[in-house]
Amino acid sequence: MPQALSTDVLIVGGGVAGLWLNACLHQQSFSTLLVESASLGGGQSVKSQGIIHGGAKYALHGALTGASEAIADMPGRWGKALDGTGELDLRGVRLLSDAHYLWSPGSLAGNITSFFASKAMRGRVDQVKGEQLPAALQHPRFKGKVYRLAELVVDVPSLVTRLAELAGDSLLAAQQIEPLRESGELIGLRVDGREVRAQRIVLSAGQGNADLLAALGIDQPQQQLRPLHMVLAKGPELKPLYAHCLGAGPKPRITVTTHPGTDGQWVWYLGGDLAEADGVARDEAEQIKVAQQEVATLLPWLDLSRVRWATLRVNRAEPAQSGLVRPDNAFLAEQGRLLVGWPTKLALAPDFSDRVLAALARDGIRPGSASVTQGLPRPPLARPVWEELLP
Ligand SMILES: Cc1cc2nc3c(=O)[nH]c(=O)nc-3n(C[C@H](O)[C@H](O)[C@H](O)COP(=O)(O)OP(=O)(O)OC[C@H]3O[C@@H](n4cnc5c(N)ncnc54)[C@H](O)[C@@H]3O)c2cc1C
Repeated sequence: MPQALSTDVLIVGGGVAGLWLNACLHQQSFSTLLVESASLGGGQSVKSQGIIHGGAKYALHGALTGASEAIADMPGRWGKALDGTGELDLRGVRLLSDAHYLWSPGSLAGNITSFFASKAMRGRVDQVKGEQLPAALQHPRFKGKVYRLAELVVDVPSLVTRLAELAGDSLLAAQQIEPLRESGELIGLRVDGREVRAQRIVLSAGQGNADLLAALGIDQPQQQLRPLHMVLAKGPELKPLYAHCLGAGPKPRITVTTHPGTDGQWVWYLGGDLAEADGVARDEAEQIKVAQQEVATLLPWLDLSRVRWATLRVNRAEPAQSGLVRPDNAFLAEQGRLLVGWPTKLALAPDFSDRVLAALARDGIRPGSASVTQGLPRPPLARPVWEELLP
């Protein structure tokens, strides 16, 4: 029988939400145990594009929506953390780009959209030209307009590595989670047969939250999944590009981020409208063909003959809402000692953490005594998805 443990906060799920929260709790001297059933970051987090949104893309209609306002301070908070002066010390995490760009390819509709975007953002975007353009767009044949957004792009694998360092001995690899009850009240979890008692239990397991809630016999909050069919491209001709390419509609036509391969080549990761409904309906070969056509139309000077392609199907996990509208904030629901939520965006991990810390403070939960956690089996770090698919 493995040794029973007790901890202040038991976290289930080692994506960016659980890891960020864990690091913040440590900093405030809480004892924690974070249980991960697969690999750290291997759910949505390392499959994300790493953009630390400030809300700009939600203003494309010409109006600042709730989404724009709620996440407006995230780039600032992350920027401070990255240079070691913020709430967490994330020095050593690789910053891929200190800006994300809005790129209008020159079509009439795209130009109008970017005009509204620039007006709506009231100085939060600046038009860039010539040498200030992203490397991939610096070509005499490029005719579009480009706006620089004060948003960051981080290398998520290095972020997960750093957050795992900040976790100390608190990480536990385990598969089987069952409720631990006393007099009908949930007082902890049985983790691979080991009793873990906790003052609070946080489920931050992304898509796994639904099954965990079912195992606990709880039917709220409900989860929704938004499927995506992303495209990856790798080749010696590809240069860094971090941009939303605007189309006629409110959503970016494609969103491109660029990630470093270990062989020195760059990998383009393509999302946006391309990866949504129609893209999800396509099979891999069709999806690659559409992506190739998009890139050839938008960057016709690019030699794609040596570029290799792959696709990735992945779900975004969020709290259920009518009409599959994207939530504006991190989401947290509470029931007794149990807290469950989704950050809804990597960028909103600090907001998720704030909500948990506020609930602890409100309930007078303070750091208490804890079991020794040294020597527990530690979950592995996830491999970058571009290394898996395009080695
Ligand atoms: C293609 C794509 C691109 C994206 N791009 C961006 C972006 O550019 N910017 C942005 O802000 N957001 C982006 N997002 C959203 C962002 O990735 C997610 O909101 C965020 O990563 C969610 O973090 P999480 O920790 O809640 O979940 P996850 O990263 O999914 O982590 C959940 C963890 O829980 C573990 N787990 C599951 N079940 C169990 C269990 N029973 N026991 C123990 N562990 C369990 C999983 O193995 C996993 O490691 C993107 C998402 C996708 C899919």
